[in-house]
Amino acid sequence: MEHTALILIVVTLFLLVIIVGLLTALVFKLFRQTLPRESSLPRSQEATSGDLSTGEFHPAIMERLKELDKIKPPRAELFCPNHTEEPGEVTCSICDGLFCRACIKPFKALHFCKEHLPLVMRHDWDEVLTIKTSTADPEHGVRLFDVKKELFKERDIPTYVETHYKINVDQDHIETYLVLFAIRESVDDLRERLKDFQI
Ligand SMILES: [Zn+2]
Ligand SMILES: [Zn+2]
Repeated sequence: MEHTALILIVVTLFLLVIIVGLLTALVFKLFRQTLPRESSLPRSQEATSGDLSTGEFHPAIMERLKELDKIKPPRAELFCPNHTEEPGEVTCSICDGLFCRACIKPFKALHFCKEHLPLVMRHDWDEVLTIKTSTADPEHGVRLFDVKKELFKERDIPTYVETHYKINVDQDHIETYLVLFAIRESVDDLRERLKDFQI
């Protein structure tokens, strides 16, 4: 009997300790909430909990988010400019615009939009330059496409790039060449302008 009473006292004391502990924690929490916000969080933690629209993020994070926004194409560019419900699927080889299947036609192993297909068909096109590309040096090829885009956007000179493959029998591998084409009348001028480009 005495033994049971002892256990009861121990259990009661144990429960009391728990209740007191919980109450202390609760009071402490309430007290913390009433403190001014500045002192409740370290400075760096506060900076990351902001809202993008109010510019509360840490400046380095804001910078990174802006960079990501630049890479991501705006939604409108992912859809055909003529059919806003149709996703853009194929790029025009002249203007680099993204169009739906109905708005773009294959020609000479490339694709051209409705505006630029007549331009391609109406003129004679000649080779401006040819560069060899390899997986070891893709930079040169990328730069040719940049030049092509710049010619069209900045100077209104239409060009397109064809990819040609040649089998190198001696070394038993396939070589890739990028050939820049322009309207015959502008070829001489472009060759002069791009004479440093060809290696
Ligand atoms: Zn086009
Ligand atoms: Zn379309």
